[in-house]
Amino acid sequence: MVTHRRGLASDYAERGMGWAEVPTDEVCVDLRLKADVALLNAAVDLGVSPPPLRWFGEATSMDRIAFKAPPLDGSYRDGAIWINDAVGDVVRVVAHEVWHAKHGEVEELIAGAEERAAQKYGEAASARWHSQ
Ligand SMILES: [Zn+2]
Repeated sequence: MVTHRRGLASDYAERGMGWAEVPTDEVCVDLRLKADVALLNAAVDLGVSPPPLRWFGEATSMDRIAFKAPPLDGSYRDGAIWINDAVGDVVRVVAHEVWHAKHGEVEELIAGAEERAAQKYGEAASARWHSQ
């Protein structure tokens, strides 16, 4: 499992909630299309078949919890890329997770070099996207 913390702590931990899957058709269509293109770009670039893309958002008490984790933008787990439906730079995050899809799931604590490589890849993908 690879998790990506956001910069600032939220009250997430105190609420003790988690993340719930957001059905794809409930995700903003522009965000979804951008993510799909970023996914294909990165998959072609890295020579992997594109993993399924799933979406999540902060769970409310009515939701079924998909997983618990610190606040995060994206995650690669169980062969799927999960993206926060409130993510800022979706191109960067998707490319980052495709990198993990190529290199395998790694525990965060032992993933230092791998994580830095994924971050670098995501940032480069985002820079290319935004220079077009
Ligand atoms: Zn990562």
